[in-house]
Amino acid sequence: MSLFAILALVLILARAITELWLSRLNERHVRAHADEVPPPFREMVDEPTYRRSVDYTLAKSRFGEVVTVFDAALLISVLFSGVLPWAFPSFTASFGTSVSAMAGFLFAIGVALSIVSLPLAWYAQFKLEGRFGFNTTTVQTWVLDRLKGLLLAVLLGLPLLALVLKLIEWSGPNWWIWAAAVVIVFQLLLLLIAPAVIMPLFNKFTPLPKDSTLRERLFALALRTDFPTRSIEVMDGSKRSRHSNAFFTGFGRFRKIVLFDTLLAQLGESELESVLAHEIGHYKKRHVVKLLGVSIFGVFVGFAAVAWLARREWFYRAFGFEYHAGFAAANVVPAMLLFALLAGTISFWFSPLVHMWSRRFEYEADAFARATMGEAQSLVQALRKLTGKNLSNLTPHPLYSNFYYSHPTLLERERALQAVRSL
Ligand SMILES: [Zn+2]
Repeated sequence: MSLFAILALVLILARAITELWLSRLNERHVRAHADEVPPPFREMVDEPTYRRSVDYTLAKSRFGEVVTVFDAALLISVLFSGVLPWAFPSFTASFGTSVSAMAGFLFAIGVALSIVSLPLAWYAQFKLEGRFGFNTTTVQTWVLDRLKGLLLAVLLGLPLLALVLKLIEWSGPNWWIWAAAVVIVFQLLLLLIAPAVIMPLFNKFTPLPKDSTLRERLFALALRTDFPTRSIEVMDGSKRSRHSNAFFTGFGRFRKIVLFDTLLAQLGESELESVLAHEIGHYKKRHVVKLLGVSIFGVFVGFAAVAWLARREWFYRAFGFEYHAGFAAANVVPAMLLFALLAGTISFWFSPLVHMWSRRFEYEADAFARATMGEAQSLVQALRKLTGKNLSNLTPHPLYSNFYYSHPTLLERERALQAVRSL
């Protein structure tokens, strides 16, 4: 084994061990508080809901550990069994080394890996979520979702992949700049067309009833906060799950606000207004643009790394591939594949930073909602209800929540909202 192969193995194991350790740490912390509702939450949740949230947290955590072990074992066997350096020349022997053949090769590996993970996805939806009464997905919907996802990947992902590979042959050493630019333009277009073209493939969207007081109230809020929106729509989230959510999509005049029907069923009008105010806060504080900026930066860094690795013989040899210099798609494809497989073992260590940043955005959006509503109580009430309905973990270990949570915990958010009040 080469030095780099050993390093890759260490990175994969380090990630898995860290994830298992954090998960166990969190489970112990949750169990230590499981006997009775901890004092700060006594007003918010009743005893049976709290018990169910503990059970749900522990069940999800244990399932997460299985997924961690499975993913690490799969990655190690794919990288070190020799299957890839065997499959690649076998594939080129049959289909050649044209750009479309190479795109097909990468695509086929991606599809094969996601098929291997299907049983776990099935278990999570039907067994785990089902046991706690969250699953409303039918088998038919679940199968259709996968097929639609595959169809979209064939129609959108495959041509993009082919275009990126073509750029290698067209533009030589600086191909990664062109490739990154093309991928970014593609992502922006996708964001633009998703609300109109892609999301309706999976869900039904219906405008809020014309003469409802809720509709008037939410449009008044949008007007007051200078957040022009053409429509506020209800999405049939209940088709798949009892979990609830709200978001906005699209740009400029294509923008629309989407509320899950499950959210409408769970919250009162002023609570819904405060949730929408929070979402508008994300927009007003330019969080969307900032996140987009970071993801654009990430695409450039990723392609720069692939382009650099694609010219290192040791990178190919570490995993049993032959190295050929030159800017042909077939020479770069092994580096792309290996990078795609290994990227998560690096990015994992940056995820706490991203989550820390994301939590700061949540505090800002909460503060915006509070200022817009002129009170914090509606949002606090909404967060409490949603925490209860979603059986969220009320007592995560601080290290665990700091590492994984994109949102502050309920207690942290309430305290921040109260602190703003006392200013
Ligand atoms: Zn938010």
